[in-house]
Amino acid sequence: MGNNRMNNLLPVEMEHPECLVCGSDSRHPFLTVDNRFDTSQKFNLIQCQQCGFVYLCPRPGQKWIAQYYQDSGYQPHQKETVSLSGKVYQLVRIWNNRYKRRLIEKYFKNGKILDYGCGTGEFLLEMKNSGWETFGLEPSPAAAAIARNYHLSIIPDLKNLRGKVDVITLWHVLEHVHDARKLLAELKNILNPAGLLCIALPNRHSLDAAFFKKHWVAYDAPRHLYHFSPMDMEKFLSSGGFKIFSMKSLLFDPWYNSFLSTSLESGKNRIKLLSIGLIKSIFTAAAVNFLSFFNKKNDSSIIYLARPEIDK
Ligand SMILES: [Zn+2]
Repeated sequence: MGNNRMNNLLPVEMEHPECLVCGSDSRHPFLTVDNRFDTSQKFNLIQCQQCGFVYLCPRPGQKWIAQYYQDSGYQPHQKETVSLSGKVYQLVRIWNNRYKRRLIEKYFKNGKILDYGCGTGEFLLEMKNSGWETFGLEPSPAAAAIARNYHLSIIPDLKNLRGKVDVITLWHVLEHVHDARKLLAELKNILNPAGLLCIALPNRHSLDAAFFKKHWVAYDAPRHLYHFSPMDMEKFLSSGGFKIFSMKSLLFDPWYNSFLSTSLESGKNRIKLLSIGLIKSIFTAAAVNFLSFFNKKNDSSIIYLARPEIDK
């Protein structure tokens, strides 16, 4: 899958961050994973010896990361696509956006919302059409241009926002942010004290992560810098002055993860992919949907709903 653009990487400066959750720099090896768009590139995931958090280390510095997003198969930045998997992705995105809106509207009928890392803007468009005042922030110029075509307000920086917002969403974004602790503090400053913070992330403790091991697509090195478990997320948000009050599922994420992970595991072996691979991915995705109905901590991805803590 993917193409060969990755082979022409510019020199990349690597950095060794400390643990995002507890600040420790003591760590031990956890897993070596491929860049899924160019399997000749290997990256190390390490585990914090203090708190158990898993993260990418060393990692490309912020100035050098953009080139890893340039593969034409990186779906979150695409508007339209011709492949079958691309078509399915678009349909699921429509369903997901409606689901996300209904989830938020359980807490706020409408108001002012910021989608941090809004991609091509379809979620914000769903919110705008439902009467919300919407703002987006998106570092990819190509994706931001598509969002602006929908006449959405895409701001270049959080400083451009006037007044507080009622809801902030980060849909599969936090795991991409180099200075995530600084971002969390900035978000706390612009969120209404009675507001809602909504963060969706892959779950390292999911059943699919356990089944696919180093081929689990959500390791996605070097684009995903962190691999949160629900416990890591609770500690991280709490240290930034937020309290998680609910966790929700994204119904299709187990299917997306399982099919793509199977495809990575099978490599170029199409027969393996279409036989054992297909059965394994259907079984895994259905099992994740079923088990996470009873316990969200098994789920492929989790939407964390949090509120600012009053006294912090
Ligand atoms: Zn730690």
